[in-house]
Amino acid sequence: MKHKSADIVDIGKNRDGNMTEGSKSHYEVIVVGAGVAGIYQIKRLVDLGIDATVLDSAADLGGTWYWNRYPGCRFDSESYTYGYSFSRDLLDEWHWKERFSGQPENLRYLNHVADKFNLRRHMQFNCKLEAMHFDEARDLWRVKVGDGRELTCRFVVLAVGLLSVPTMPRLEGIDSFKGRSFHTYYWPHEPVDMAGKKVAVIGTGATGIQLIGEIADKVGELTVFQRRPNWSAPLNNSPISDEEMADIRARYDEIFAACARTPGGFLHEPDRRGFYDVSREERLRLWDRLYDEPGFGIWLANFREIFMNEAANAELSEYIAERICRRVRDLRVAEKLIPRDHGFGVQRLPLETDYFEAYNRDNVHLVDIGETPLLRVTEKGLRTTERDYEFDIIVYATGFDAITGAYDRIDIRGLGGETLAAKWKDAPSTFLGMLVHGFPNLLMPTGPQSASASTNFPRGIENGVNWCMGLLQYIWDRGYTRAEATREAEQRWTAHVVKMYEIMLMRKAKSWFTGYNSNVAGHEEGTVRYFLYNGGTPKFVGIINDVAANGYEGIVFGSNARPEPEALRTRISA
Ligand SMILES: Cc1cc2nc3c(=O)[nH]c(=O)nc-3n(C[C@H](O)[C@H](O)[C@H](O)COP(=O)(O)OP(=O)(O)OC[C@H]3O[C@@H](n4cnc5c(N)ncnc54)[C@H](O)[C@@H]3O)c2cc1C
Repeated sequence: MKHKSADIVDIGKNRDGNMTEGSKSHYEVIVVGAGVAGIYQIKRLVDLGIDATVLDSAADLGGTWYWNRYPGCRFDSESYTYGYSFSRDLLDEWHWKERFSGQPENLRYLNHVADKFNLRRHMQFNCKLEAMHFDEARDLWRVKVGDGRELTCRFVVLAVGLLSVPTMPRLEGIDSFKGRSFHTYYWPHEPVDMAGKKVAVIGTGATGIQLIGEIADKVGELTVFQRRPNWSAPLNNSPISDEEMADIRARYDEIFAACARTPGGFLHEPDRRGFYDVSREERLRLWDRLYDEPGFGIWLANFREIFMNEAANAELSEYIAERICRRVRDLRVAEKLIPRDHGFGVQRLPLETDYFEAYNRDNVHLVDIGETPLLRVTEKGLRTTERDYEFDIIVYATGFDAITGAYDRIDIRGLGGETLAAKWKDAPSTFLGMLVHGFPNLLMPTGPQSASASTNFPRGIENGVNWCMGLLQYIWDRGYTRAEATREAEQRWTAHVVKMYEIMLMRKAKSWFTGYNSNVAGHEEGTVRYFLYNGGTPKFVGIINDVAANGYEGIVFGSNARPEPEALRTRISA
């Protein structure tokens, strides 16, 4: 069969000595991204013997867990709900050491998966996808890689990540700083000696919160520059003993079934009692328990009204504010750490370890750059409207051009030369978060408007990859060479996504859930981008399964291709 992988021309080695398919120029499927999604995607493809390869701009696999190496970087998903569910063998042999495991172990896990299933030989590293243009006459994508190669393939699967493009603040003088500085995404691979050093951290989002709690007692002086505080709650991490792990292994079926039932794809099930059907005392008892329990319980095992009802959300927010005040000795500092512009849980909730206690230390200082804005980076440190600060190290914990950032940075041209970046300029529109009208044969198992980013990612990733594989199988079985979502199907889905936002308080929050990022041109305040599917995992899976069961309604199939392999090597126009 034409799309099977019998005809690999040359197996070479990349810079790190990994086996690659470096000099082949045509594949049935090119997967872009070797993170959790890309690894599972290539596993499914090679299991079928499909001629496929993975490209990643990184020097090795792991995606999020390859790049983010800052101290404190770890899961806020329970480790054993984050791992892949597809292999019993894998589940039986892997021992998660902590309930919320850290980046080094997470990266080891993904390497173990790739090695166990011999997937590395299907991956090419240091290969940035720069452009992909659809060849309408042949139903092919012409792909341009950063190393200068031009490849062709029938299908492209973009597994490029939703938090994979770091953003720097718009500050002058960043390059003039004479000390060391880095974005947390690019944290150096070798240990950074911070003992006795004066360290600045800019940003108190999920990353800053993890980092600050971890390094406060390991640096000389730590100065935190905060523009707007975020809500956060304790992670309550702990080790997993051999006995506990044995118990988890025995219950994996039950655990994954529970994740599939909950809106967030986690073990935490919402409390389905009405907020006002129980007494205030009962609500407080629940919150006392959830705040002291591990993980997202205080967010996701709470009353459902906290996401939709202003008054219910305000009552919970006051409760959390009070818990923060109990942990921070100086009430003026505590007040600065309590968000007043949005309610608890209307943005993705960062979980923390010793974050608030860090501000009780004499060597930790909080600068409110809402009051005294940062003016520039200097040779020696940072300048605010109030004064100059001197530092040895500046850390930019300034987040990501989330959800569409990685897509916007690829020159993707579909039918009639339309670019995806232009189509999505104001907001993405997709069919099921996985297909785009006008861009045939482009699949996004975890795309914008899918259920991945609003849930425990890997559970969404497995659902997305499985659905895309079902679609590909349908296409191959029938000999089609083109599949494209209709305009109507895309409009229907996008309208549904927007409707799901309308009932949620999150639509008002300035966060990556609504596409807000003051460091990305066009993403400043003003335009709400409907980035995520908020209907929850069970509803999402029900809808995508119905689409498949109804012969992939909303997708049109064709067989335009005139296969002339030798003629496929014409150049991508610049
Ligand atoms: C610090 C941090 C902690 C997180 N913790 C959790 C958690 O506890 N639970 C949870 O559910 N989710 C968490 N997430 C979300 C996390 O991103 C997902 O869990 C998951 O790792 C996403 O996997 P992915 O394969 O979709 O994307 P990624 O892991 O982001 O991988 C995408 C890959 O695509 C590559 N790529 C992008 N563009 C190109 C291009 N043009 N050419 C070539 N390669 C390209 C990148 O180099 C990257 O390797 C966290 C995210 C961060 C940043």
